[in-house]
Amino acid sequence: MPEAEGHSQAFQADVAKLLHLMVHSVYSDRDVFLRELLSNAADACERLRYEALKDPALAPDSFTIRISLDKNAQSLAIEDNGIGMSRQDLTDHLGTIARSGTRAFLDLFVPEGGDAGENADAREKLDLIGQFGIGFYSAFMVADRVDVFSRRAGSSEAFHWSSDGKGTFSIEPLAQDEAPVRGTRVVLHLNEASKEYLEAGRIERIIREHSSALTVPIELVEEKGSEPRQISDGAALWTKPKAAISEHDYKEFYQTLAGMFDEQALTIHWHVEGRQEYAVLAFVPGSRPFDLFDPSRSGRAKLYVRHVLITDAAEVLPRWLRFVRLVVDSADLPLNVSRETIQESPVFAAIKKAVTNRVLQELAKLAEGDKEKFTKVWDNFGAVLKEGLYEDPERRDALFDLARFATSTHPENGRGLKDYLGELQPNQTAIYYLLGEDLSHLSASPQLEGFRARGIEVLLLPDPVDAFWVATAVGFDGKPFKSVTQGAADIKSIPVKEKPEEGRSEPPAAGLATLYALMKQVLGESVEDVRASDRLSSSPACLVASDRGPDRRLERMLAASGRLGAASKPVLEINPGHPLICALATKIGTPDKQRFEDIIWLLFDEARVMEGEKPAATFADRLTRVLLGAVGQSTP
Ligand code: ADP
Repeated sequence: MPEAEGHSQAFQADVAKLLHLMVHSVYSDRDVFLRELLSNAADACERLRYEALKDPALAPDSFTIRISLDKNAQSLAIEDNGIGMSRQDLTDHLGTIARSGTRAFLDLFVPEGGDAGENADAREKLDLIGQFGIGFYSAFMVADRVDVFSRRAGSSEAFHWSSDGKGTFSIEPLAQDEAPVRGTRVVLHLNEASKEYLEAGRIERIIREHSSALTVPIELVEEKGSEPRQISDGAALWTKPKAAISEHDYKEFYQTLAGMFDEQALTIHWHVEGRQEYAVLAFVPGSRPFDLFDPSRSGRAKLYVRHVLITDAAEVLPRWLRFVRLVVDSADLPLNVSRETIQESPVFAAIKKAVTNRVLQELAKLAEGDKEKFTKVWDNFGAVLKEGLYEDPERRDALFDLARFATSTHPENGRGLKDYLGELQPNQTAIYYLLGEDLSHLSASPQLEGFRARGIEVLLLPDPVDAFWVATAVGFDGKPFKSVTQGAADIKSIPVKEKPEEGRSEPPAAGLATLYALMKQVLGESVEDVRASDRLSSSPACLVASDRGPDRRLERMLAASGRLGAASKPVLEINPGHPLICALATKIGTPDKQRFEDIIWLLFDEARVMEGEKPAATFADRLTRVLLGAVGQSTP
């Protein structure tokens, strides 16, 4: 194909990188190219269906996707009578990377100037490309050259885009007799290794496997000049009765809808008839999408009205269910108004509420019926569901029933609040929790020692969102939530299960009181108070929030985000039974004042480090001095 002068354009840098990657790809499942092109063709038809609501003359009598094989020319063509592309569309959509997923893939796996595919590590990562979807460019996995002939609906002009996938593409005007009446024809000139895609049987199998999510009929022309044969009727899957749908169809539909290559964890499909009429097909993914915590990511529901796609970003579910992928098809919403107005209608509000309730119900059913499966769902999406605990007080109780935790006595992530209440200790009046950064730090926290000694279970809460819901939730089943790091621990009345070690004795109370006062004097403005602790059994000291202050982790998070002036001063709690404390209490008034102060500061710093905070600036000097003392040397 000669390139007309002045029409050859370079791909955007990212596209060139991606194309190079495709050519060197060891990606095994090359069939995806057809799935991607079929899905583009179906999208194009759905978009024209929508535009034709305003201007019916734009639409054809019926939408069809046609695949034609030509053994002589060694080409495969995919033709749709959908919306088509203008010259600008061809440049923008086929010359730059429009897909956020593809961009994310490149950013993650192809370092600047890097060459994927040439080392084992990159090759492993290449298999992940499927998860991100490579769209149109996957055509270059099987073709040496791709020609796209397209006419934008309603336009008198048509264009021809062409590229060999090596860095440039060209666009030329198309003569009317060569141009499609409507829509787009993508012609793949198959490369040597891809001749298998000229076999009708092979193509038919791929279409059958991948067409359940496509709402446009697909036909196949097996050889140039032969009659087209319908392979798929294009009936929307969600309109069919459940009994007529196979597991494979659901899975395929889910993968196309979610752009994922795994298997869904839960399928929810129902039809509502009566006062309102709608169908819903929803999926909980089997793994975390890579952009789950992207703040711009919202619910991605496809909203249809009487089988016409209105938008693929309808806000049907609340943000805390944003991982659920779904299609809603209503018979009652008004078709002749804008996308926005449709979503403001009371009918839509009623659907939203009903769908949210149903999804929650089905999750609860899964939690009851298949604990293992539900735990996996919770591991993947619990951190998102917990956002609902403070964003949606109305559904808090339903969410508390679903919530699963790792706890000090059950470190695996599967403990429910009802389980917790079933094992309360005598006199225990609260549900205790500990906030932190990650589970391993949490379970090593000194603050848990006194609770462990009494057999009291503590919820370990490692997600940032935890700090917020515990602060707003009043309690569960009449028991308040209480931080183990806040205020004086009220666990004295709960009997200790482990007997203190033999021979361990506390120094006289008077000596201890003097020691605490001295410590307070040494630490000065850094602490609010120094006092004895019920929380500790093996560590010498820990930090807690004062009785009035908020939880220390919540406070740190608020301070870090600028929503609080400065974190308040902590209380240093001391373990009076610890040998180090006993020894210190007997050394009050020793001549080596420096050593005494160093030890007090190091105790404070140790408690800070255990909380994930930084020690004081004097830490290194003091530690070195004490270590020198320990090996019998004095400071140089
Ligand atoms: P995606 O489909 O995820 O957006 P692609 O790389 O597959 O990514 O396609 C890029 C864009 O090119 C599409 O969003 C669409 O605007 C346009 N496009 C591709 N194929 C067609 C087609 N058959 N008809 C109309 N537009 C198309």
